[in-house]
Formats: sequence, C-alpha cells, structure tokens
Amino acid sequence: MEQKKQVCENVLDLVGNTPIIKLKNMTSSFKGNYYAKVEAFNPGHSSKDRIALYIIEQAEKKGILKPGDTIIETTSGNTGFSIAMVSIIKGYECILAVSSKSSADKIDMLKAMGAKVYVCPAHVSADDPRSYYQVAKRLHEEIKGSVYINQYFNELNIDAHYQSTGPEIWNQMNGEITHLVACSGTGGTISGTARFLKEMNPNIKVIGVDAFGSVIKKYHETKEFDENEIYPYRIEGLGKNLIPSATDFDAIDEFIKVTDQESAHTAREIAHKEGLFVGYTSGAAMQAIKQLNEEGEFKEGDEVVVIFPDHGSRYMSKVYSDQWMSDQGFFDTENEEAAQSIQYVK
Ligand code: PMP
Repeated sequence: MEQKKQVCENVLDLVGNTPIIKLKNMTSSFKGNYYAKVEAFNPGHSSKDRIALYIIEQAEKKGILKPGDTIIETTSGNTGFSIAMVSIIKGYECILAVSSKSSADKIDMLKAMGAKVYVCPAHVSADDPRSYYQVAKRLHEEIKGSVYINQYFNELNIDAHYQSTGPEIWNQMNGEITHLVACSGTGGTISGTARFLKEMNPNIKVIGVDAFGSVIKKYHETKEFDENEIYPYRIEGLGKNLIPSATDFDAIDEFIKVTDQESAHTAREIAHKEGLFVGYTSGAAMQAIKQLNEEGEFKEGDEVVVIFPDHGSRYMSKVYSDQWMSDQGFFDTENEEAAQSIQYVK
C-alpha cells in the first residue's frame, strides 16, 4: 500500500479550523453552557491569520499582487504578524504602521517575522498625519507596486470570517448555538461570523464587546459619532475612535462595554481556572459574559460561544506582568496577588 507523508506544505496550511473548548470552572454557577473558540491555535496565534491569508489570496486571484510586491497595513500587532507570516511564505515585502500603544513584545515579534515597522503615536486623531492610518496611506502612495490591506475599511475582512469562522462554529456546535459573544475592533470577526450564523438561524443573539473610551457602542445605538466618548484606554485591539466600514452594525444585536481593569483580571482568571493562556481581549470577552450573566441574559439550556482572539504570550509585559498590573493600579491591595503566587527562596 502506498504510504503518504503526513506533512504540511507550509505553515499556511494550518490557518483556521481552530478548536472550540468547553468552559467549565469560570461559568459553573451560570445558567447555560459556555464554549470558547480559541483562535490562538492558528499558526500566527490569532484570528488575524484568517484575514491575512484570505485578503492576500483574493488580491492574487484578481491579479493585484505580483511576486516581490509590498504589502502595507496598519495594525495593533496581530494582523501585522499574520501578514508578515503570509508574506514570507508567498514572497512579498511587508511594511507595518503600528500604534505606540502596542506592546513591545508585539513590535519585536513583527521585526522577527521580517517586517519593516513604523511606530506611530497612539493618542492623535485618525486624520492626523502622524496617525498610523495616515502613515500607511502615505507609504502606499509613495511605494510603487504596493497593496494597502486597510482592514478597517475592507469588506474582505468580513468575508474572511463569513467563509471560515462562521461555518466552523456552526459545524463544531452542530448548529446548537443561542449566543455569540465577540470583541469588535475592525468588526470583521463578529460581523462575518454573525452574518453566517444568522443566515443559518436568525434567532442567534450576537453581542459585541466594546471598550470604555470607544465610540462603537454608542454609534450602534444612536447612529451618532460622539467624540465625547473617546478617551485613552489600555486594551489593544478592542473598540475604536472611528467607525470602521468592516463592522456590519446590522448583524450585531447589542454591544456591551468592559473596563481595562476587569478585563485584565478576567484574562488572568481564564489562565488560572481553564488552563487557557489567552490575550487581553479574551479577558474582555469573558468579562462581558460575566456582566451579561449578572444582567440575567442567559437561561438554562443556552449554548453560548465566545471567541478568544489571541494568545497570552503577547501580553507578558502587560496583563501577565504583576509589575504592569500594579503600575496601572489594577491590584486593589499592593501586590497582594503577586505575593501569593511567587515564593522567593533565599
Ligand atoms: N482582539 C485582538 C487582540 C485584536 O488584535 C483584534 C483586532 N484588532 C480583535 C480582538 C478584534 O477583532 P476584529 O478586528 O475582527 O474586530
């Protein structure tokens, strides 16, 4: 009998088809069952592998990208890492304009994957020439043969999740799902997944997670862009100071806001109680579930899927650093939690 080698052609073969893992301990007192779609199992350790691969392959199909061309993007880190990874395998140059709010680990990782990185000030308006949007736009104009992914305003961002994340969740859950809870940054993940799931069953309730300091929730409720909602916050990749067209507001039933502090503690709790080492926005999504539970959103028999967008290793100098937590004032009593978990033997 002919034996076939069981190997991947390259790392991109592993994008998508991430597992759904049932949550046990954190939700044991809640009504309903809770399941996490753990996107850290992508080879680039986040959901952004899906859009990087999908958008680049669509550009290839349309003849927009040719070998040796340059791919440009603005990113809080994850999309950049994924684009850099896809660029290496497919032979493109990769330039990334990132916010200075991104963790040092994330920026170093982009460099490790061969990308050229521009670090731009975080707390300037989107139309300021120093903002990462404007820097990316300028580079795109200056560099011949460059493609600007523009994930916040690219409909293909929604499509990528409509084609992959949505059908995966539907099949993995055997169609038994009552709620989807997911963070909204560009909005691509929640919008594409929600579009697919609602086509299969319009009764599925889709709840977006937003940050205090972001305009998204208020815009969804009032269609008003309220600048007064905007102020700096810590969570990377969640919420926005503009309205992305990659968010399909009609596919989302409601938004809920979470704080930096509670989301950080909840991320640490996921690691402690579920053994899943996930990122800051996974903490935010789980924090939203806690708040929804307190509001009485869930009932017996509900099947709730939450998306955990990335891996905890990207936050070693932030959420998983006791020093950083303490510096933010996130420990209620001085370093109490740190003292409990580390014993220094002298
Ligand atoms: N979590 C993290 C860590 C992210 O980087 C992002 C993307 N900005 C999101 C959540 C939100 O995903 P989306 O952009 O698809 O809304």
